[in-house]
Amino acid sequence: METPTNHYHILLIDDDEFERKVFTRTLSYVSMNTTLHEAWDIDSALAILNTQSIDCIFLDYRLDGITAFDVLNSLKTNGLTTSVAITTSLKDEGIAIDLLKSGAIDYINKSELTPDKIENIILSASKIRMYESQKIRAEQELKNQVAKLGAILESSSSAILSINSAWEVTGFNASAKDIFKRFFAIELVENLALQSYPDMLANVPLAVDGLNRALEGNRVQVDQVRLAGRIEEYFFELSFNPIKDEHGGTKGVAVFIQDITDKKRNEEALLKARNEALKAAQAKSDFLSNMSHEIRTPMNAIIGITDLLLDKLALPENREYLQSIKYSADNLLHIINDILDLSKIEAGKVELEHIAFNLPQRMSELKKTFQPRADEKGIDLLITVNTDVPVHLKGDPFRLNQILLNLVGNALKFTTKGSVHVMAELKKKTAQHHTILFSVTDTGIGIPAEKIDQIFETFTQAYTDTTRKFGGTGLGLAISKNLVELQQGFMGLKSELGKGSTFFFEIPYTLPNQEEVSIVEVQTTAIQLQDNTYNNNASLKGARILLAEDNSLNQFVAKQLLKKWNAEVSVAETGKEALKSLQELEFDVVLMDLQMPEMNGFEATAEIRGGKHKNINTAIPIIALTADAFDETRKKVLDAGMNDFITKPFKQDDLFTKILAHIKR
Ligand code: ADP
Repeated sequence: METPTNHYHILLIDDDEFERKVFTRTLSYVSMNTTLHEAWDIDSALAILNTQSIDCIFLDYRLDGITAFDVLNSLKTNGLTTSVAITTSLKDEGIAIDLLKSGAIDYINKSELTPDKIENIILSASKIRMYESQKIRAEQELKNQVAKLGAILESSSSAILSINSAWEVTGFNASAKDIFKRFFAIELVENLALQSYPDMLANVPLAVDGLNRALEGNRVQVDQVRLAGRIEEYFFELSFNPIKDEHGGTKGVAVFIQDITDKKRNEEALLKARNEALKAAQAKSDFLSNMSHEIRTPMNAIIGITDLLLDKLALPENREYLQSIKYSADNLLHIINDILDLSKIEAGKVELEHIAFNLPQRMSELKKTFQPRADEKGIDLLITVNTDVPVHLKGDPFRLNQILLNLVGNALKFTTKGSVHVMAELKKKTAQHHTILFSVTDTGIGIPAEKIDQIFETFTQAYTDTTRKFGGTGLGLAISKNLVELQQGFMGLKSELGKGSTFFFEIPYTLPNQEEVSIVEVQTTAIQLQDNTYNNNASLKGARILLAEDNSLNQFVAKQLLKKWNAEVSVAETGKEALKSLQELEFDVVLMDLQMPEMNGFEATAEIRGGKHKNINTAIPIIALTADAFDETRKKVLDAGMNDFITKPFKQDDLFTKILAHIKR
């Protein structure tokens, strides 16, 4: 709080010179620091007040022909707020009250004007003056704020209006005026009675309802009110806020109207674009699925027949040509698979497995796959699984294999001497997860530092001559990185040009329970058993196999292979024919193409499993043959009641081991 100044300017208004002298004398006994200004009528007083800031006025009640009331009024009309104490020679209680009402701070008999009394009056006046000036400042501040708010409301793009309980408009801003004019041809004015515009109200039932509910004291939000403009439609969001009176009742409503036409149009455009994008993505996925089928079917024939020719029919001088056909076909298939994979990832269609697997066993499979290539190039291939890594993990072993196949494949491709070392170690262990760090280190050509950041992007290769020298599309790493990230993992790379590279990634896995572990163990033993069987004497002697397949090239390839393994083969061209054969003859296994004329593989399976046909073994193992490698197809096949699944073009040993596994059961 401000402290009163310690030098006071006093104005004495008295027309009696003697009285003035008496006052001057008394004031000289006051212990404060004061300056006295003397006036004898209103004019001389105003002259002083205009030039000097005065702390307190002592006014004689009766001046020449006028009373203190006249002087007080005159001061007021001149905008002066200085405190006035009235002095008189004759005190009258009635006048005293009236004077205090008119703004005087005291009314004292001149005979009582002691130095102490004067001092008290001056102090109170100065305090009043201080409060007064604070009040004036606060009022000014309030005025400024109100003006600012008013300006904001007025210029707001939202329309704002207030309506009282009689449905009269009590206030509005420019936007509100504009909306009423534009949509209802109504000139908004203060006190406009909305009830006199029944047509307008009938046009906006949601708003009327909102207003009614707000007048009952509720805050109401109406999300979408549609108004027809001259040409287009417009949309508004309305909010109704009750205005309370001092007793807590609702005396009116503040209405905020926001034009959301643009927002709505954008949303609609966005929705349309999204639907179109979804449609396009669906079309792309359908196209890829079809293309995959169309390309894989002839590829199956090319690879299968080449294999067969290489196996026994090739004349020595043709072997090299056949090898080259085989190499190109394998490559082409690889590229098709990569493109399909990438589109699946982009379409968010990859479904991850969550199954138990034996990590060391998977790693030794990996070694088996790459050992011949490493031997061919004279490169050491080392695989280390640290002892701190749990043997059994739960996650997606197929994706892990796919990533490792790509990294080890690359490492061997870009290394001419030295070694490729694959390592698995435990990076982190939490209550939920074991995070395994895999790394593939080679002593190959390395990757230039400026390429390291881009190498994981699609269609990127480190050297422009890579494709010519080593083949490849630049998709493998992009796919691998995406697959790692889909499994909540992280992939990175360290490389030194000319010295080699280390690609690493980490994936968090959970641990399987005991039951899941024992299932994996049975499978692992079965795989090892089948491996041995196939390698030692590849024979399916005596096995009776029904091949349901309409494509003659595919028939030929499969028949040749099955005959090579001494199986007995019958061929059916449609699902219907397959059913007929199953009724007439006994079989150990059915190889079922999914897309056949008349009755497809799914329908035929349903008929077999349905049990409506006499003489058909409803439990006969059925292995689906399909050219499309999508996860959904695999799921559909198993859901349909088939036992297994082989993608065309199939690998000889894959076909062999799968048939063998199902015959033995
Ligand atoms: P692709 O091998 O089919 O071209 P990738 O995405 O697997 O596609 O690899 C992209 C590029 O990264 C390769 O072309 C090569 O330039 C570089 N690269 C990948 N792995 C290695 C490696 N181990 N050593 C050197 N360069 C590599």
